[in-house]
Amino acid sequence: MTHHNTSNEVWAEPFKIKMVELLKVTSREDREKAIKEAGYNTFLLKSEDVYIDLLTDSGVGAMSDRQWAGMMMGDEAYAGSANFYRLEATVKQYYSYQYTVPTHQGRGAENILSQILIKDGDYVPGNMYFTTTRLHQELAGGKFVDVIIDEAHDPASTHPFKGNVDIAKLDKLVAEVGAEKIPYVCIATAVNMAGGQPISLGNLKELRVWADKHDIMIVHDMTRVAENAYFIQQREDGYREKSIAEIVHEICSLTDAATMSSKKDAMVNIGGFLAMNSEALYEKACNLVVVYEGLHTYGGMAGRDMEALAIGITESLQDAHIRARVGQVEYLGNRLIDRGVPIVRPIGGHAVFLDARAILPHIPQSQYPAQALASALYVDGGVRVMERGAVSAGRNKETGEEFMPKLELVRLTLPRRVYTQAHMDVVVESVCRVMENADKIKGLKFAYEPEYLRFFRGKFEEIDA
Ligand SMILES: *Cc1c(COP(=O)(O)O)cnc(C)c1O
Repeated sequence: MTHHNTSNEVWAEPFKIKMVELLKVTSREDREKAIKEAGYNTFLLKSEDVYIDLLTDSGVGAMSDRQWAGMMMGDEAYAGSANFYRLEATVKQYYSYQYTVPTHQGRGAENILSQILIKDGDYVPGNMYFTTTRLHQELAGGKFVDVIIDEAHDPASTHPFKGNVDIAKLDKLVAEVGAEKIPYVCIATAVNMAGGQPISLGNLKELRVWADKHDIMIVHDMTRVAENAYFIQQREDGYREKSIAEIVHEICSLTDAATMSSKKDAMVNIGGFLAMNSEALYEKACNLVVVYEGLHTYGGMAGRDMEALAIGITESLQDAHIRARVGQVEYLGNRLIDRGVPIVRPIGGHAVFLDARAILPHIPQSQYPAQALASALYVDGGVRVMERGAVSAGRNKETGEEFMPKLELVRLTLPRRVYTQAHMDVVVESVCRVMENADKIKGLKFAYEPEYLRFFRGKFEEIDA
């Protein structure tokens, strides 16, 4: 099999468009009013007031005609749906895990896994935190410990695998708390909070050796494993001629269990699963899934959704698909770099991250510059993006103090198979206009701060200087 994947080669989408969704055009006045009403939180905007929606790549991908056809094949039996067995077989074939427990989405899988594996006072190391993942670890009595390499916290570092684990940090943790206090290491592929940055197979193999030595499990947050595999194919010695499907299989084989939000890579609108190789763990997961999600053969998903998911998994692993997917993200990132916009480098797999500190140096981090920048982008051109900085990081569970992460970013996330290159050009122009007028953007303070995951529903007010 040959691969056409040189970075500078011309590429295009391996699909054509069969159905379109019309968008509403709004005025700047409309948008100023809308963002104020939304408390300067882009999560609280109405979707119909948005022109180009780059809030997230979660559940917003365009399904293929085959996936829609699969929706008609739903076996909506309460127990033992044919679609479940198809999904289970697909997970086994492509992701290598022996057992699958469907959940309503990724956090449902995180909840079950955390409750089974974490005891009060345990430590859970990971290659950077993810919002819902860390919260479920904490709710189960665990404490998250960041063991990603230092380069991941530096938006200017061009390290090719910023998702790698620093094994020395793991050794230090074992020396401090003991291996018996560490139920598992949580490894995300294409690390979201680091900017969609990959972990290398070399690093994962080292981690496997380390984990076996200490008898600690590896749990894989596999939400964007295909995008991670693409970067391995492009950047890691020995993988140039390997297919995305082969690389994904190898990644998964090095881990013991996985949580999946199928709303990302797998291009369905809802769903997720927990997968594992241990029969004992599977038994425990089946016992808990009935409490929180549903019977172990549907776990919160309709039969038709499991069918569309099984098909989506196979499409997500096609080389031409992933090449165009990451190619579009790189297109947007490279146009922004050409225009002098400070973004996290290298460009990630699902999103481009603007460095809000560099764009808004007059706003201190305690006044949430990334939140303010996200609001300004909406007002300028109707482009909706997300804060990934101090607001998302939240507060320390024990001290109540706010985390002040090194990365204060705004995420422009690309839905899969949804927008065109012309949309990307519109986004670039809007970001440049906002940058030119950056000194007029004001800092923000909380008007309402929710207890959990405050970025979703928090409201803000502008601070008048
Ligand atoms: C989205 C996501 C989750 C949570 O999944 P949901 O389906 O939104 O519940 C977990 N981890 C990562 C890395 C994610 O991107």
